Amino acid sequence: MALIVQKYGGTSMGSPERIKNVAKRVAKFRAQAHQVVVVVSAMSGATNQLIALTKELTANPAPRELDVVLSTGEQVSIGLLAMALQDIGVAAKSYTGGQVKILTDDAYGKARILAIDDAPIRRDLDAGNVVIVAGFQGVDAEGNITTLGRGGSDTTGVALAAALKADECQIYTDVDGVYTTDPRIVPEARKLDTVTFEEMLEMASLGSKVLQIRSVEFAGKYKVKLRVLSSFEDEGEGTLITVEENRDMEQPVISGIAFTRDEAKITVQGVPDQPGMAFQVLGPVAEANVDVDMIIQNAGRDGTADLSFTVMRGDLDKTLNVLDRVKAVIGAKSVEADKTLCKVSLVGVGMHSHPGVAARMFRTLSEEGINIRMISTSEIKISVVVDEKYLELAVRVLHKAFDLDRAV
Ligand code: ADP
Ligand code: ASP
Ligand code: MG
Repeated sequence: MALIVQKYGGTSMGSPERIKNVAKRVAKFRAQAHQVVVVVSAMSGATNQLIALTKELTANPAPRELDVVLSTGEQVSIGLLAMALQDIGVAAKSYTGGQVKILTDDAYGKARILAIDDAPIRRDLDAGNVVIVAGFQGVDAEGNITTLGRGGSDTTGVALAAALKADECQIYTDVDGVYTTDPRIVPEARKLDTVTFEEMLEMASLGSKVLQIRSVEFAGKYKVKLRVLSSFEDEGEGTLITVEENRDMEQPVISGIAFTRDEAKITVQGVPDQPGMAFQVLGPVAEANVDVDMIIQNAGRDGTADLSFTVMRGDLDKTLNVLDRVKAVIGAKSVEADKTLCKVSLVGVGMHSHPGVAARMFRTLSEEGINIRMISTSEIKISVVVDEKYLELAVRVLHKAFDLDRAV
């Protein structure tokens, strides 16, 4: 008998028919005498509809109230799945994040899980129930409802698996594993049988939404056996996220390509070229809780420099407001913004041992006439910022140039 945590995403829970299919799969595991905890997302589109609804009411909802609204999608899902299970004779009980005491900090909209009280869940499991927990939500120390950020149900699943020391955490979604890149953009993308935590962390943080980054961090930290699988297929091993590189095989240079569409670049022109200027510009931006990604400084000849950096597009207006004040204080010439950009990243632990990856990437893009606007690198990734209109093209030509469509 094993203890398994299964997480089902929005598409997998998207209709009554699909919820019945989820119930059947859970029943199959119960029939094999496994204990099962199920984490579910809101039905597909539900969270977006709730956001749209709040926008009709106000442009600036209080974060606390926004979380009260957004958390309801998952509450619908847990109740429906419990009914579907009971209907086919499987004992099941549903719980909201608050009911199972998923304790988080109070950062509404991007709360972090601090602790989970596993005793009530264990009691229910021992009594023969399937325990169904609402993903994406928790409560802070005061009992306020919090949410974990978009895609947060993955993190609920892994956090529960860690708290319960589950034998495996299975993330069921609408693709049958982690691919070399988003198969919706590149049909030739290949499913990976395994991917290392290190690579998955980079892929998730650089935009592959198949797993929320926090879920990968949790799984790495608490050594949770994590697998991504299709909720629409009965066969298949999916993708296992592994600690070790697969040393039996020739390590490919690149394991995957990730991308994000929501980049914005800001350039502060004519910043006096003196010590402390980067801090004076970027300090207030950080204080406003905006994450800055790539940074470039070009020294000018007239004692000034231009400072360019990227932020998430959703943070652009907030950042420009901050910079308006900063500009006056430091006497910069102007602040310009470009929000038609995207970021494309190559990820692979094999980069360590293969020089020339960057050169091949830049040549491939130049052959397509794609202008690189910014570059950043780390040990296992190279990212470029390019015009958003080239996103699909860039991903496709890079996928081919690095032989990702060929079986290894
Ligand atoms: P869920 O609702 O089940 O959480 P998501 O939409 O959050 O599903 O994540 C699954 C989607 O992630 C896929 O449909 C796919 O389009 C996208 N995706 C992006 N990058 C990858 C990748 N490298 N491998 C697999 N899927 C990816
Ligand atoms: N329902 C939430 C979202 O759409 C959480 C999740 O699906 O993981 O982001
Ligand atoms: Mg998701």
